[in-house]
Amino acid sequence: MKAIKEIFPLLSSPRKVVITTHQKPDADAMGSSLALYHFLTGFGHSVTVISPTNWAGWVDWMPGARLVLDYEKNRVKADAIMDDTDWLFCLDFNIFHRTKSMTDKLKDLACTKILIDHHQEPDSTSFTFGISDTSKSSTCEMIYDFIVDSGNADKLTMEINECIYAGVVADTGSFRFSSTHAGVHTLVADLKTRGLDHGKVHEKLFDNFLENRLRFTGNVLLNRMEVFYEYNTALVAIPKADLIKYQIKTGDSEGLVNFPLSIQGIKLVALVIDRDEERKWSFRSKGEFDCNTFARKYFEGGGHYNASGGRSSESLDEAVENFKKAMIENKNLLQ
Ligand code: 5GP
Ligand code: MN
Repeated sequence: MKAIKEIFPLLSSPRKVVITTHQKPDADAMGSSLALYHFLTGFGHSVTVISPTNWAGWVDWMPGARLVLDYEKNRVKADAIMDDTDWLFCLDFNIFHRTKSMTDKLKDLACTKILIDHHQEPDSTSFTFGISDTSKSSTCEMIYDFIVDSGNADKLTMEINECIYAGVVADTGSFRFSSTHAGVHTLVADLKTRGLDHGKVHEKLFDNFLENRLRFTGNVLLNRMEVFYEYNTALVAIPKADLIKYQIKTGDSEGLVNFPLSIQGIKLVALVIDRDEERKWSFRSKGEFDCNTFARKYFEGGGHYNASGGRSSESLDEAVENFKKAMIENKNLLQ
């Protein structure tokens, strides 16, 4: 994989470009894709953003979100656009299988593939150009760097600034996680100097839900959370019946995994949701527990040191039992 800066000189010649990201894109995935979309469109490139799946309603406000193609709903059209593209940008993921049903398509494409991502263990051999940097707070921060480092800071429009800020806020837990290095605040200061209305973005991200989501959260914390003080661990297991009862849609469970971390002494939180196709895990830790290693070892997943995800193919009850075994095995690391 050649350094990302090697494509800077190529930006000025218009090309056909596809931008894609991981399945069920969150604010960082969608924000980085749309920020890059607006930036490249400004250069005269012909750009399409393709999401492997649908996304949460609370990223729909992002400028350009309505132009994004949902691969599951527009497969023929999206395949034709990808077959014809010169460049493929892969943002906020680093291995093709995180795009689920797009995996084989992405592998087979003969175009130039470019990676911009901040997760661990990238599949670098699959990309022609790229940057993979786990010290970055978010992919949105990396898109900001891409724009500024390529000498185009003057092209940071308000649309781009809002998308970037949203992803940075989301991936840093509102500037709380240890990934919030000094440069993140410098970035925000720059966006503010350029006129960003940060309050507007916070409102769109955090005060933009339906009543059912809040009641679902209440139900989960009251009825679905188990705390294992001996292991400084909390487990939240959400059965399918809850998803149906509260009419839960993509993205409605985002952030739920963070609540139990507010309990004094809790080091690890695991949340599992009984989805149709799999039991989907989220892991969060405080301090010295490596969620990435844990997810890779036990749940076919990965991510970051303090935030990761994974999957189980067994039933919810079996998946929960497997988690408890893994927790006990990790007793020394959790105390
Ligand atoms: P979340 O719990 O918010 O879904 O994911 C937390 C972090 O773990 C994110 O950075 C996400 O990219 C990563 N992650 C979530 N699920 C998986 C997975 O199945 N495989 C890998 N490699 N990473 C995941
Ligand atoms: Mn991210």
